Amino acid sequence: MTAGERVVVVGAGVAGLTTAVVPAEAGASVHVMAEQAPGVTSLAAGAMWGSYLVEPKNKVLTFGPSAANTSSSLTRG
Ligand SMILES: Cc1cc2nc3c(=O)[nH]c(=O)nc-3n(C[C@H](O)[C@H](O)[C@H](O)COP(=O)(O)OP(=O)(O)OC[C@H]3O[C@@H](n4cnc5c(N)ncnc54)[C@H](O)[C@@H]3O)c2cc1C
Repeated sequence: MTAGERVVVVGAGVAGLTTAVVPAEAGASVHVMAEQAPGVTSLAAGAMWGSYLVEPKNKVLTFGPSAANTSSSLTRG
């Protein structure tokens, strides 16, 4: 990703908005397009997070805390 690139993200739920943050922070010009903003499913979510029934366990032990830290830092802004 190069600063100044133009990126279009379709969807304004948690998936689309999270996807949009990363290139925006890298300096890209990000345009979010969606039928409804914010996403209806994301508005209903309880915001619980955890690795449940995910394999292989040895990789999840590394990936899980890393993903949780990234998600937390994104929500703090
Ligand atoms: C009651 C409930 C509780 C939940 N609780 C949790 C929880 O505690 N923890 C958890 O991890 N998950 C939870 N979930 C699941 C979680 O909410 C969803 O997996 C997540 O919100 C999906 O996000 P999304 O961005 O993919 O979809 P959405 O939030 O539905 O966003 C989709 C976006 O795409 C747009 N779009 C779709 N089609 C088009 C199109 N053709 N053209 C333009 N735009 C389009 C929509 O307008 C919207 O902006 C819950 C779900 C429900 C219903």
